[in-house]
Amino acid sequence: MLLEYVSGHDRAWLLAHGNDEAPERARTLLDRLVAERTRGVPIAYLTGSAGFYGRRFDVTRDVLVPRPETEHLIELALAFLRECGPPEPRICDVGTGSGIIAVTLACELPRAHVVAIDVSPAALVVAERNARVHAAGARIAFQRGDLFEAAAYAEPFHCIAANLPYVRNAELKAAPDSTAFEPRVALAGGPDGLALYRRLLARSPGLLAAGGAMFLEAGPDTADALAALAGAAFGVSARVLVHRDYAARERVVEVRARPLTKGVLP
Ligand code: GLN
Repeated sequence: MLLEYVSGHDRAWLLAHGNDEAPERARTLLDRLVAERTRGVPIAYLTGSAGFYGRRFDVTRDVLVPRPETEHLIELALAFLRECGPPEPRICDVGTGSGIIAVTLACELPRAHVVAIDVSPAALVVAERNARVHAAGARIAFQRGDLFEAAAYAEPFHCIAANLPYVRNAELKAAPDSTAFEPRVALAGGPDGLALYRRLLARSPGLLAAGGAMFLEAGPDTADALAALAGAAFGVSARVLVHRDYAARERVVEVRARPLTKGVLP
């Protein structure tokens, strides 16, 4: 991958030209990148981009590296919105980071309107650039804010998606673990990993439309506790489900708000 990056040629070309001499400049750059990678720096930070749900996204050290597990959240949100959402769904991505969730949902659902929130101004710069590159900027409103605190929302959302920090502070890893190079503000979830989700869920019942759904990424050891928090926040007004990722680990908590049924007592 690093050789593809420094040479500008794809893997097939590199395999077919295995005996070619690389230019001096490319070799110097490759040596530097290999040294960085050896220290543990994620590939995405070295090449400045990562693939996610079939698209390329700019990535800097101000944002979390996109993970394939988050594609599972995308699939769940898309299935829900295509089946149960209105033609022009209002979606909120809280803690958007590089913007992968907001931009992917906006691209996959061309009539959706998305609000993307992040506390980090540097992350928002990256997210806005990704939205522009994928021609989704006009349908995404970027907001700087601490979860839902900074703005008042006139109408509730049909879908709220979030991949908030959920690593327990005591479990944050040091280098050479690749996460040591990622922003702490994107990973550290407090003593039990749920500090941010707790605050998010406290505000969410009023912001999720009847019949709408939340999709929250979690870790296998926090998903059950997050589901319990969601259950407590929404009470009988929502159903809570835990979905597993393709490694069969609990990964996404879904909060499905009950629809309003006119004239029928629940
Ligand atoms: N999946 C990430 C990890 O385990 C954590 C992402 C997050 O905290 N939102 O490193």
